[in-house]
Amino acid sequence: MLLAGALLTGCSNGSSHPKPATPSRSASSTASAAAPDAGAYRRWGLDRPLAPPPAPPATRLTATVRPGETPQIVRRVRTTDKVVFLTFDDGAEKDPAFARMAKDLKLPFTMFLTDNIARSGSGYGYFEQLRAAGPAPGNAVENHTLTHPNLRTLSAEAQRKEICGQQDILEKRFGTRPVLFRPPYGNYNDRTLAAAGDCGVRAVVLWEATMQINDMRYAEGGGLRPGDIVLAHFRGPSELKGTTMAQMVTNMLRSIQRQGYTVARLEDYV
Ligand SMILES: [Zn+2]
Repeated sequence: MLLAGALLTGCSNGSSHPKPATPSRSASSTASAAAPDAGAYRRWGLDRPLAPPPAPPATRLTATVRPGETPQIVRRVRTTDKVVFLTFDDGAEKDPAFARMAKDLKLPFTMFLTDNIARSGSGYGYFEQLRAAGPAPGNAVENHTLTHPNLRTLSAEAQRKEICGQQDILEKRFGTRPVLFRPPYGNYNDRTLAAAGDCGVRAVVLWEATMQINDMRYAEGGGLRPGDIVLAHFRGPSELKGTTMAQMVTNMLRSIQRQGYTVARLEDYV
C-alpha cells in the first residue's frame, strides 16, 4: 500500500554525482578527494564520467529558522547551474550493488528516511554506508517521518510526533540532526510547516522530476531544468519490474548526462 502510493505520487527523492577531480570546497573534509576514474563509470554503465559540479553558492538559499518562523518550501533550487539534485526516499530496498556504486562514483545524494521502513531488514547500517560513500563531507540523511502517514489527516500534535520523533531518532543514530524534511506523498498543510519549524527543520523539500524505472517524468516541460530536485526511492526488483536499484540509478544518471546536467549535493544549496 505504501509503495504503491509512493510510486504514483512520488514520496521521496535523492541526488548523486561523482566527486570532482580536485578537491573543491571540501578542503576541510577528511574524506578522499580522489575522483573516480573513467573505468569506475564504465563499470556502472556510464560511457563517460559525470561532469564535476560547479562550486555551490557561497551562502545557502535557506537560513536557519527562528522560533515562530516556518521553513521554506523548496520544489526546485534557484540556480542557473546545469545541476540537479538526487533524492532517495523511504529506505525499503538495501541493494548492496547500489552501495558499491555510490562509493565507486562518490555520488552525492540526499536520503529521506522513514523510521519504520528504513529500520526493516538490515536497518540503518546500510544508510551509514551510503552517507560515507558521498563526496566529502558525505551524503546527508534527512527526515521523512516515523511511519509515512498522510500528514494532512493528522492533528498538529500527531504531526509533531511524526516529525520531531524522527529528528530525534536520526540524530541519535547518525550524530547529526536533520535540517531538511520531506512530507510523505508531498502532502502537507500549515500545521506541518509549524511542526517542522519547531522540530528544527530549515526547509521542506518537494520535487519537480520523478524517476521511474527507465527515465524521469517532469512536472513541467519535457526535460530537466537547472536546479531540479529529482525524486527516486529505495526500491528493488519487485517494485521495478525486475530492474535493480543500481540499474535504475544508472538509467537516471545516463538521462541526466544526456541532457547536459550533472549532480550536486542538495545541502550545499538549500
Ligand atoms: Zn515516501
